[in-house]
Amino acid sequence: MFTSLSDRLTATFKNLRGKGRLSESDVNKTVRDIRMALIDADVALPVVKEFTSAVRERATGAEVSGALNPAQQVIKIVNEELVTILGGNTRTIQFAKRPPTVIMLAGLQGSGKTTFAGKLGAWLKQQGHTPLLVAADLQRPNAVTQLEVTGERAGVPVFAPERGNMGGHDAVLDSGEGTRSFGDPVSVSRAGIAHAQSQLHDVVIVDTAGRLAVDAELMQQAADIRSAVNPDEVLFVIDAMIGQAAVETARAFAEGVDFTGVVLSKLDGDARGGAALSVAGTTGRPIMFASTGEQTKDIEVFHPDRMASRILDMGDVLTLIEQAERAFEAGEAEEMQRKFLAAEDFTFDDFLQQMSALKRMGSLKSMLKMMPGMGQMSAQLDNLDEREFDRVEAMVRSMTPFERTHPKQINGSRRSRIAKGSGVTVSEVNQLLERFGEAQKMMKQLARGGGMPGMPGVPG
Ligand code: GDP
Repeated sequence: MFTSLSDRLTATFKNLRGKGRLSESDVNKTVRDIRMALIDADVALPVVKEFTSAVRERATGAEVSGALNPAQQVIKIVNEELVTILGGNTRTIQFAKRPPTVIMLAGLQGSGKTTFAGKLGAWLKQQGHTPLLVAADLQRPNAVTQLEVTGERAGVPVFAPERGNMGGHDAVLDSGEGTRSFGDPVSVSRAGIAHAQSQLHDVVIVDTAGRLAVDAELMQQAADIRSAVNPDEVLFVIDAMIGQAAVETARAFAEGVDFTGVVLSKLDGDARGGAALSVAGTTGRPIMFASTGEQTKDIEVFHPDRMASRILDMGDVLTLIEQAERAFEAGEAEEMQRKFLAAEDFTFDDFLQQMSALKRMGSLKSMLKMMPGMGQMSAQLDNLDEREFDRVEAMVRSMTPFERTHPKQINGSRRSRIAKGSGVTVSEVNQLLERFGEAQKMMKQLARGGGMPGMPGVPG
């Protein structure tokens, strides 16, 4: 999911690296690339338009400011706009003040409603709720059985019409409190809620019927159920794989039943991601859950911010960027950037300044863990000894101002003085100088190729 969109956006940002200022044509090209990447990912056109015009407006004239270079600023802008079209803040179920909370599921047949009913039930149960599933899908012959099986797997009770009588106007329900007669999905839903009240279930999940395509009768039925049960939440379940059709379907359901939130199902598939980016954008309803597999456990609360950084494939680099912005004092970053771009020698003074900025940002370990690809390395990171950095700092502080700006002039006698002054061995000083020389070289190369300034080449 999102891999190709990710690759495309990342490639776009690469072209901006090393630029001190974005020209109008840089912005135009970037916006064009972003537009194509979104269209190819099946994002709906109106959403693409809104997105790119917001990015264009904000990126125009983006200059080095604070700790960010223009490329980083564009990433930040794109990220913020992605979070916005994905719905902004994370939103989860709002529970009724007086239980039971009623959650109604709506969506096309095959979208994953029934599967999701089980997942949501298990998820709620885990949080200490006592949910009840209600089988109000009387359209498909085996829908009720499917919900019963799903409920059993999830360990959540199901309120269902008695088999053999489904769909007919004389459907008989075994509600557990004797046998009553019900006519249709609306009555089944009502009875389900009454049952929940009497059995003290605090949440009721009503699974409704879907059709293969949107039709008036289906919408009417869903709307009728809605008026009958007065749900606290109506969740529209949509298959993330349906691409461009997602917007039309979502609109039809928004008009026909109206819904309070969206569930994106089959996000484990190789969908291009357009549905996710379009549905919240066009309906203005938040995506609340992602369904990511056929098992009961495959449910995730949808976090627009995390999804955006997943799309941008940046780990939590964005958090890092923000921390850097806060940690570097005004002017500090610009000066660092100027030296960097001018490929001037990186000195031990610069190094000390960066160390103290790094310290202001938090523990090195926690920062490294936010870098992309570092997640798998957390075991090694746990072995990282932060005291090593204190030793390095002590060595640098034992250098004279001349030595800090002329590391190459640090000869044998200077080395042993520094070692004594900082309480380390001469060989540790040798190692530091050697690594520092490599870092200097690396930074010169980076500056020529354009790289990420701010925290380059921390030796060790
Ligand atoms: P309904 O008609 O809306 O109730 O849809 P179902 O719950 O019956 O799901 C339709 C099909 O999609 C079933 O084969 C499910 O196993 C499958 N399915 C549902 N959710 C997911 C999901 O998140 N990932 C994958 N891979 N398959 C899913």
